[in-house]
Amino acid sequence: MAIEKKRHIRVFDTTLRDGEQAPGCSMTRTEKVRVARQLEALGVDVIEAGFPIASTGEQEAVKAVSDAVERVSVAALARANETDIRTAWEAIKDAAAPRIHTFIATSPIHMTHKLSMTPKEVLQRIRDAITYARSFCENVEFSAEDASRSEIPFLVEVTAAAIEAGAVVVNLPDTVGYATPQGYRHMFEEIRSQLPQAQRICLSAHCHNDLGLGTANSLAAIEGGAGQIEGTIMGIGERAGNVALEEVIMALKVRGDQYQADTGLDTRLLCETAALVSEVTGVGIPPNKAIIGHNAFAHEAGIHQDGVLKNAMTYEIMTPASVGALGNRLVLGKHSGRHAIREHIRSCGETLGDDEVEMVYRAVLGLADLQKNVTQADFRNIVNAVKSGKGETVKR
Ligand SMILES: [Zn+2]
Repeated sequence: MAIEKKRHIRVFDTTLRDGEQAPGCSMTRTEKVRVARQLEALGVDVIEAGFPIASTGEQEAVKAVSDAVERVSVAALARANETDIRTAWEAIKDAAAPRIHTFIATSPIHMTHKLSMTPKEVLQRIRDAITYARSFCENVEFSAEDASRSEIPFLVEVTAAAIEAGAVVVNLPDTVGYATPQGYRHMFEEIRSQLPQAQRICLSAHCHNDLGLGTANSLAAIEGGAGQIEGTIMGIGERAGNVALEEVIMALKVRGDQYQADTGLDTRLLCETAALVSEVTGVGIPPNKAIIGHNAFAHEAGIHQDGVLKNAMTYEIMTPASVGALGNRLVLGKHSGRHAIREHIRSCGETLGDDEVEMVYRAVLGLADLQKNVTQADFRNIVNAVKSGKGETVKR
């Protein structure tokens, strides 16, 4: 039986640039360096460290990241003009593998109302900016801002011009989170079928979550031929945020049968990475957040607890260890079953007879009716009371 080789998908992390643009998420130079080192350990391919033209502090932070990491490419963002591009280059030129990332909008609404430029002028600007960026470095990425609301015939022209001028990555972002999976995939397929030269470079997806479709759209783009995904840890970013990288990475890993693609990241560091980003930005991780949330591997319903104790795969599609989570948690509450109670008693180092287990079980349910969760301390008290023959009084 032939084993199909999985396509390698590159991960472009923009937590330090797009993520940082979220309200209240700005990071100091030291914080950016800490996060960058963690992203390097995680194994991302590119770290977008910032937008150097924004401020002197931003330039210094991007420089500091460039100095701190060795095994990962460091990108800096620049609008399609010489000052931005030169400033970006100055900040990353000492990086082991610098990348200039330049962009301009290509949708009718952005060209008319924001840029006041004709499509022809935009095309010329793309050629000039990429040619200028290439005079500094070979690794140049071009983004057609608002690509998902651009006209496909124009995007084909834009991509052709970008490749001709020397871009090695062309990113087609869903800047405003408007795309649907079918439409976004179609865009990538069209570019690839109409432009044979697009096979020579890497097409990239960059999704936002305004309709909660970031992960679905990124996966659709991969099916349409994208070789790079851009996003942030925890999905931090402007408005509803960027796509959460950990979701796309684990979707590819867990559903490799479907996508035949993988990122090769050390996914065991995902939880740790999210905890660090949460710490430096002050953005909490919602308990029900996919992959990294506190409850992502927690079970309270008795039927689920019983299944997980017999075989974790009954209710878990990946192991907690595969994403660096501490382990599955059997939460004691009013939905808990006897199997979980018995397991809990055992993990406390106690052995109780069937009658005593039953008393503990009833006491836990009684307490859970009065309060949300039964803590470890509550549980200890119940077990001790049952052991000392005062089990009937533990209900309070
Ligand atoms: Zn973005």
